[in-house]
Amino acid sequence: MTRQEMSEKGYEKLLTFKEFDSMKIADYANIPRVMDMQCPECGKSDMLGSSDNQPKPIGWVDTPQGFMMVAECPFCFCKFRFHISTTDRNDVDGFYRDFVLRIKLY
Ligand SMILES: [Zn+2]
Repeated sequence: MTRQEMSEKGYEKLLTFKEFDSMKIADYANIPRVMDMQCPECGKSDMLGSSDNQPKPIGWVDTPQGFMMVAECPFCFCKFRFHISTTDRNDVDGFYRDFVLRIKLY
């Protein structure tokens, strides 16, 4: 899907490409990577858990392993990063689409 098509489908109503670009975090070295989408500090927030303990999507990073979401734990405010897609790790537009859906679900 091209950006034009995504825009026509309403993705930009949730998060514009400009807003998406501004959420990129360049310095991700100190943000721990997790494999289970769960807060590595307190374990209370979990992206795969119920809606009241979701970590907040705050940004994204471009790493050698592909694009990842950065989320913040609402309990201990720890930031952590993880893959949100198995198929679009290296395609920024595909990642954008998955990222928008995560923002919408939050
Ligand atoms: Zn936590």
